[in-house]
Amino acid sequence: MTDYIEKTSKYVMGTYSRFPLTLVKGQGSRVWDDQGKEYLDFVAGIAVCNLGHGHPAVTQVIAAQADALVHVSNLYYTGPMAILAQGLVENSFADKVFFGNSGAEANEGAIKLARKYSYDHFGPGRHEIICAQNSFHGRTLATLSATGQDKVKKGFDPLMPGFSFVPYNDLPALAEAVTDRTCAVLLEPVLGEGGVILPDRDYLKGAKSLCRTDKLLLIFDEVQVGMGRTGTLFAHQFDDVAPDIMTLAKALANGLPLGAVLATEDVAASFTPGAHASTFGGGPVVAAAAGVVLKTLIDGRVLDNCRQVGEYFINRLRSLGNKVNGVKDVRGRGLIIGMELEYDGTEVVKEMMQRGFLINCVQTNVLRFVPPLIVTEQEVDLLLAALEEVLKTK
Ligand SMILES: *Cc1c(COP(=O)(O)O)cnc(C)c1O
Repeated sequence: MTDYIEKTSKYVMGTYSRFPLTLVKGQGSRVWDDQGKEYLDFVAGIAVCNLGHGHPAVTQVIAAQADALVHVSNLYYTGPMAILAQGLVENSFADKVFFGNSGAEANEGAIKLARKYSYDHFGPGRHEIICAQNSFHGRTLATLSATGQDKVKKGFDPLMPGFSFVPYNDLPALAEAVTDRTCAVLLEPVLGEGGVILPDRDYLKGAKSLCRTDKLLLIFDEVQVGMGRTGTLFAHQFDDVAPDIMTLAKALANGLPLGAVLATEDVAASFTPGAHASTFGGGPVVAAAAGVVLKTLIDGRVLDNCRQVGEYFINRLRSLGNKVNGVKDVRGRGLIIGMELEYDGTEVVKEMMQRGFLINCVQTNVLRFVPPLIVTEQEVDLLLAALEEVLKTK
């Protein structure tokens, strides 16, 4: 079965350095490889499978909808999209939704919408967006240009003009960066790829009031931290501040590709017929799956579990950090938790995998834990025991 590894290396472009692991099955917080070995999954497809693998209601609705109708194009109406849009609007700051297929595509849509809104209301030339250093917004040319990490941009010049960068959690720098060409501020309510960085208490509120004063749109990229990851349906709800535009993707359909741009009525009005489009966006199968995801999260029990197990997990990781050498910081909210090491985390990830635990590492030295939101304290205990063994040897 290592055949798949050879074939992938031979025929698939080498944009990923993959682990030598072929996965064939998943259930809840567990996945199995082609040798039958079981792993506890604290990656969850990178914060995607928030309800866990093989969630029965999601699987059932996918099968039923696939049987009824898979695709007809956005020239026509379909039920699952209508119901999902209503659910997202009724449970958020937003009045309208646009559906695409991925996080990058959602952010592309948000960037276009912000520019169009500014053009409609203030005329041409006001198109710049202020972003954060160490942010991540996607790999398409525009979202790459909006990303605050040089390493992913190298070799792709010329990038899209119109993005500037300020340090995260620095309100004076944000105020300083505004010019008469600025139309929006784009922020992640928690930096995910940037190393699990939380906003300071008044940062997002401060960004919002600055946007109000300077007539800028505030865009939150909730692609990674939306859909319950931090213990509230949307991460910005913790800070009690609403954006004008928000993007979602990763966990929206629990593993099927779906992205969304949410906006207030006033802002969404700039997307008129023909202004933007996506062939697959919000198709019946993915939208039906997302409808079940949303309903399950709104029910509340999964979010309660996320907050409760998240708190347990972070406290236990902190005690572990005090017990072993080389742990610089433990931080997070809900079930996105980072453990910053004083050394490269790659070996830890590999040794955890040998012990049957999937974790990953961002910014080379931050172990990131983003398990399904249904993970139990017992499963966390299993991971902690293995992690203690591994970290002790470092
Ligand atoms: C993953 C991610 C993206 C990109 O999503 P894709 O679906 O991979 O295009 C954008 N923003 C954030 C915050 C992300 O974590």
